[in-house]
Amino acid sequence: MKDNCIFCKIANGEIPSKTLYEDENFRVILDLGPATRGHALILPKEHYANLYELPEEAACGVMRVAKKMAEKMRDRLGCEGLNLVQNNGDLAGQTVFHFHMHMIPRYPADGQKIGWKPGEPKEEELEEIRKILAD
Ligand code: 5GP
Ligand code: ZN
Repeated sequence: MKDNCIFCKIANGEIPSKTLYEDENFRVILDLGPATRGHALILPKEHYANLYELPEEAACGVMRVAKKMAEKMRDRLGCEGLNLVQNNGDLAGQTVFHFHMHMIPRYPADGQKIGWKPGEPKEEELEEIRKILAD
C-alpha cells in the first residue's frame, strides 16, 4: 500500500466504499461522481500508478473482473451498452494515480458522450506509424 493513496485505502477496506465485488486481488466500487447509473471502478488492491506499472497477470485479472461485472450490469441494471475507460497520466485525464478501470453502463438518452474527434490521416502517416509500432 502506498501512503496517502486514497484508492489503496479504499481497495484494502480502510476507507468504506460502495463495494460491488471483492476478491483477493481486486475491489469493484461505485464511483462517487458517476457519469451514469452504476458507474463503477475496478481497483487492484496492490498499488500500481497506471497501466505501465500494472503487471501482466493483474492486467488479465482486471479484464476477468470487467467481464463478470459487465454481465451483472447488463442483467441487473438493464443497461444497453457499456464503456470501459482507463486513463493514464494527467494529460489523458487521470486524476487518481492508482490504476483503475472505469465501467460506465450506458442507457438511451443518458446524456453522456464518450468519444473523440476522428482524424483524417493520409496513408503515408498511417504507414509511418505502423513502421514505428509494428514488430
Ligand atoms: P480518473 O479521472 O483518475 O480516471 O478517475 C477518477 C475517478 O475516481 C473519478 O471518476 C472520480 O469520480 C472517482 N473518485 C475520486 N475519489 C473517489 C473516492 O473517494 N471514492 C470513489 N468511490 N470514487 C472516487
Ligand atoms: Zn494506491
